[in-house]
Amino acid sequence: MNLNAATLSPTSPKVRRKTSTRRQRAPSYLSPHQTQESHDAALYSIRAFLRSRTSYDAFPVSFRLIVLDSQLEVRKALQCLLLNGVVSAPLWNSEKSVFAGMFTVSDIIHLIQYYYRTSSYDNATADVETFRLESIRDIEKSLSVATPPLIHEHPSSSLYGAAQRLIQTHARRLPLLDNDSETGHQVIVSVLTQYRLLKFIAINCTRDIQFLHLPLRKLGIGTYVQRDPSEGELEPGQNPYHPIATATLSTTVFDVVHMFSERGISAVPIIDENGVVVNLYETVDVITLVHLGAYQALDLTIAEALNQRSPDFPGVVICTATDSIGTLLQLIKKRRVHRLVVVEGEEEERKGGKKGRLLGIISLSDVLRYVIGEVDIQESAEPPEEPPSGPLTPALTSTTEEQGTET
Ligand code: AMP
Repeated sequence: MNLNAATLSPTSPKVRRKTSTRRQRAPSYLSPHQTQESHDAALYSIRAFLRSRTSYDAFPVSFRLIVLDSQLEVRKALQCLLLNGVVSAPLWNSEKSVFAGMFTVSDIIHLIQYYYRTSSYDNATADVETFRLESIRDIEKSLSVATPPLIHEHPSSSLYGAAQRLIQTHARRLPLLDNDSETGHQVIVSVLTQYRLLKFIAINCTRDIQFLHLPLRKLGIGTYVQRDPSEGELEPGQNPYHPIATATLSTTVFDVVHMFSERGISAVPIIDENGVVVNLYETVDVITLVHLGAYQALDLTIAEALNQRSPDFPGVVICTATDSIGTLLQLIKKRRVHRLVVVEGEEEERKGGKKGRLLGIISLSDVLRYVIGEVDIQESAEPPEEPPSGPLTPALTSTTEEQGTET
C-alpha cells in the first residue's frame, strides 16, 4: 500500500495548524474584538461584494476550455479528459448548434452502475467503445437517478446570482454562455466552479475573511456524525457514523461507487476499526481506475485501488470542528481544496474521544451555501472595522486555472 496516499497529508496546510501559526506570526491580522456581530458583518460585506461583481470578473487571467461534441464516443471523451487533466467538460450539439449540458464524473459513475447491473464485463467494455455522450441521459433515466439540470448563465450576470444558482440546483459548476450577435447561436464562454467562486472571494475579501472567526461546526457547515460515542452500545446494524457514508480499506470499489451514485456524494472517508480516518476515496479516483483497467477494476478493494493512485495525489485535508470558516477560506486561497474531513482533535481527546476519529465532512457546496445564504445574519450590521494592519486587497482576478479539475 502506498503509504503516502494513506497518510493524511502531514505536510499539507491543515486548517487547524494554520490558525495558531498565523496568530503567532502576525497577530495584527486579527481583530481583538471578534464578535458574532463582526462575523455577520463580514459575511454581509462579502455578499455585497459578490452582488457588485459579475461572473466575468471571476475568470482567471488565463484559462483553457475543452468542449466535447455530444456525438463523441464516451471512450474518446474519457481519454480527452484524462489527457488534459480535467474531470468535466461542456457538451456541444453540433447538429443543432446548441449547448447540450456537461459531461462530468457523475456521468461516468452512472455509466459504471448501469453496466454493472445490466451487462457482462465483456459486453460492458465493448459497449463503452461505441457508446456516445448524447446517450448518457438515457442511462440516468434507466437508473432512475435525477437528470442534471441544464443550467447556464450569462457571464455578465451577477456573481451573487450565479452562486445562488449553484446552491439552488446542487450543481458543482455553472456553464457560462453568451450569444453570437451575427448567428444568434449560443457560445460557451467558460464554466464557473464552486472552487473558483470561493477562491475569488478568498482573494478579494481578505479583510472580511479575517473576521469570519466562528467555528465550522457551530455554524453548521458540513455534514456531521450524529451519534455521540459516549451514548453506549450500538444497536445491531446501526451505523455509528450515520449519516456519513464511510468505507474501510477492504470495501470494494464497486460498493463505494454505489454510495457515490445512490447518495449523490463525491467522496467517502476510509476509516479503520476505531473510526480513525486513514484516507478518502473520491469520484475522480474512479476515472483513473476505469482508464487503467476497464471494469474488472471495480472488484478491487479500496486498499488495492489506492495503490494505483497517482503519486501526485495532493493528500487529504483534515480539520477539526473548532476551526473557523475564515481559516478554511484562507486555505482555499492557497491550495486547490475540494473537501475536508473533520476529525476529533485534542479537545475531543481530553473528553475521552480519539484523535483522528471521523466527525464529519465539509464540501465546497457546504461552504458556498453558508457564505451565500440560508443564514440569519443581521442585515443592518455594519461592515467590520478595518483591522489595524493587513494585506491590501489584491487584483480581482488571479492565476491561470485549469478547467473542471473540481469533482
Ligand atoms: P459533495 O457531493 O461532496 O458536494 O457533497 C454534497 C453534500 O453531501 C454536502 O452537504 C456534504 O457535506 C455531504 N457529503 C459529502 N460526502 C459525504 C459522505 N461521505 N457522507 C454523507 N454526506 C456527505
